Amino acid sequence: MPLPLGAMKITFCCTDTKAEPWLQGLAAALPGADISVWQPGAPQADYAVVWAPPQQFMDEQTGLKALFNIGAGVDALLKLRLPPDALVVRLDDAGMAVQMAEYVCHAVIRHFREFDGYEADTQAGRWGYRKPRLRSDFPVGVMGLGVLGERVAKALAQFDFPINGWSRSPKAIEGVRAFTGAEQFNDFLAASRVLVNLLPLTPDTTDVINKDTLARLQPGAYVINVARGAHLVDEDLLAAIDSGQVAGATLDVFRTEPLPAGHPFWTHPRITVTPHTSARTLRDESIAQIACKMAALERGEAVAGIVNPARGY
Ligand code: NDP
Repeated sequence: MPLPLGAMKITFCCTDTKAEPWLQGLAAALPGADISVWQPGAPQADYAVVWAPPQQFMDEQTGLKALFNIGAGVDALLKLRLPPDALVVRLDDAGMAVQMAEYVCHAVIRHFREFDGYEADTQAGRWGYRKPRLRSDFPVGVMGLGVLGERVAKALAQFDFPINGWSRSPKAIEGVRAFTGAEQFNDFLAASRVLVNLLPLTPDTTDVINKDTLARLQPGAYVINVARGAHLVDEDLLAAIDSGQVAGATLDVFRTEPLPAGHPFWTHPRITVTPHTSARTLRDESIAQIACKMAALERGEAVAGIVNPARGY
C-alpha cells in the first residue's frame, strides 16, 4: 500500500548503484515525495538514501533529518563529517539475515563434513569413507549477536552444533551460550573451535581476529569472516594456518576490496575467497523498509536501526 505522504524531499546518493530502479521504487512507495539523484549544488533535502557518499554531499546537505544507509555496516559512513541533526539509519535485515545464515551454515557444514576432501576424492576417482566427526568437537563461536549474528547463531543451532555467542550487552538466545564484553572474550574463544565474525567495524573491534585470538581457539580452528576485512590481521591468519592451529578459513571481506591480485589468500589451499557477497542488499526489501521508516519518522514515531555514532554502530 502506498504511504500517504506529502512533499518530502529525498535525495539519492549511492556510489556504484544504478539509481533509476531505486528512484522508481521509492516513488511508488512514497507517492507525492520529491525524489532525485544528488548532484553538487542540489537543493536541500529532508531525507537521503546513501551508499559511500562523498564528503561534499554531507557538507552541502546540512538540513537532512535522516540518512538511510543501504547496507547494515556504517563504518565507512561514520568516517565522514555528518550533517548536524541527521539520524543515521542502517538497514536491519531487509533480506540479508537469511542470506548470511545460508552462507555461514554452508561454510561450517562444508568444513565439518569434509566436503573439500570429497571433492579431491571425486577428482581422483576415489571411493573413500571418512569417519564421522563429533559435533561436540566443533563448537561454533559467533562474534556479534545483532540482527545478523543472532539469525546465524539460531540457524547453526538447528544443526545441533554447540553455539557460543559474544556481544557487548548480555543476551538470552535459545540454544546459544552467551558471553558478554571484554572480560568474557577469552572464555568465549576457549569454548569455540569455529569462529564466525559478525561484529561491526569500530575502533574496539578493528584487528580483533589476531595472533592472540587465533591461539586461544580450540586446535584445528576454522575462521569465517563475513563482517569487515579490517577485523582480521591477514598475516596472523596465514601464520596460524601454517602452524596447524587453524585448519582453514572462508573469507568474504578484505582490507582492500577487490582483494588485490597476488594477495596470498587467492592461492592458499586452505582459504576460500568470496567477493563480499555473503549478504547482498536486496533492492525491493530495502526500499520497502526505508519508505516505512521515512513515513514513521515523518509521523514522529520511533524506528529501529538508528546508529549511535559514538559507539560506532
Ligand atoms: P548489529 O549492529 O545488529 O549487531 C552488532 C553486534 O555486535 C551486536 O550484538 C553488538 O553487541 C556486537 N558488538 C559490537 N561491538 C562489540 C564489542 N566491542 N564487543 C562485543 N560485541 C560487540 O549489526 P548486524 O548484525 O546487522 O551486522 C553486523 C556487521 O555485518 C555489519 O556491521 C557489517 O559490517 C557486516 N555485514 C557484512 C555483509 C557482507 O555481505 N559481508 C552484509 C551486511 C553486514 P550488542 O548487541 O550488545 O550491541
